[in-house]
Amino acid sequence: MNIDVLIVGGGPAGLSAALILGRCRRTVLVCDDRQQRNRASKEIHGLLGSNGRSPAQFLQEGREELMRHESVSMRQARVTEMEPCEDGFRFACEDGVSGIAARVLLATGIVDEIPDLPGIHALYGVSVHHCLYCDGFEYAGQPVAAYGKGDKGAELGIMMKYWIDDIVVCSDGTEVSAAVVKRLEQHGISLRTEPVRELHGARGILSTIAFENGPDLSRTGMFFSTGCHQGSDLPLRLGCKRDEKGGVITDALTEETTVPGLYVAGDVSRDVLLVAVAIAEGAKAAVAINKAFLRRDGFCN
Ligand SMILES: Cc1cc2nc3c(=O)[nH]c(=O)nc-3n(C[C@H](O)[C@H](O)[C@H](O)COP(=O)(O)OP(=O)(O)OC[C@H]3O[C@@H](n4cnc5c(N)ncnc54)[C@H](O)[C@@H]3O)c2cc1C
Repeated sequence: MNIDVLIVGGGPAGLSAALILGRCRRTVLVCDDRQQRNRASKEIHGLLGSNGRSPAQFLQEGREELMRHESVSMRQARVTEMEPCEDGFRFACEDGVSGIAARVLLATGIVDEIPDLPGIHALYGVSVHHCLYCDGFEYAGQPVAAYGKGDKGAELGIMMKYWIDDIVVCSDGTEVSAAVVKRLEQHGISLRTEPVRELHGARGILSTIAFENGPDLSRTGMFFSTGCHQGSDLPLRLGCKRDEKGGVITDALTEETTVPGLYVAGDVSRDVLLVAVAIAEGAKAAVAINKAFLRRDGFCN
């Protein structure tokens, strides 16, 4: 198949770009293996007009909107191969589909490293979170833990104090530096350094944090500070330059990477990691891609 644009990733960034490109009557293929970053969450917060909608419903409605555009098609498949060629990029998906796309947009997201704590997966996305901008507002007045090893959890806890009054930092068997312990004291935040044994809760709601030694801690929510990595190795394999955090570097006006014809949108660039920003970057990249085609075909300078 020969298409104008291959969009790899069908989260908010990829679907937003597909919508704009479909409205420009470009032939677009969206390939997505449906591992959107916020799929464990029940509600999107901070998205104008969509507050409280489930991520699954939000994306389903986005896909349905795209189906109205004849030039856009979607596949639930992972793109596994890609290399630059004379006409753009040659690609192949794990389901056997292959072709050439004149331009490629990588909207492949990032993957969060969830702490390895027994009980966490049943609570993650409902009462265990990592992003204060996404979920901090909901916890005002509630007892909440800040989890992270070394100084990381303590620094998160200090920032959380702005949103939430009752914070206990859990450093899970690791030491916090004397300077940061002093800051915790200044902010009136308690510290538990014992190794965490298990998280307990029901229907997604955290109730207790159990430690290897010492009393249980009663909490209704927990935020953690760990790391994250790219959702796909395609940016690296294609030679995109990345910043010190691992985010793909893009042109501020076009979202084009350092590889000509290859664009990124959404969390891949590790700018502001919110749905609203992913949607905006997808739209911005789509307009830049369409402009490149208009210039190529003599419709504008
Ligand atoms: C638990 C949680 C809750 C969150 N809550 C909020 C919130 O309330 N409000 C908010 O604004 N933000 C929230 N976020 C952040 C939000 O999820 C992200 O900012 C947003 O999903 C980024 O969109 P994206 O399109 O860049 O990436 P994603 O939504 O992660 O989509 C990327 C897609 O690309 C696919 N993909 C990757 N590689 C390939 C490949 N090679 N081939 C095919 N497909 C591929 C993935 O499977 C995935 O479907 C939350 C994040 C988490 C983890």
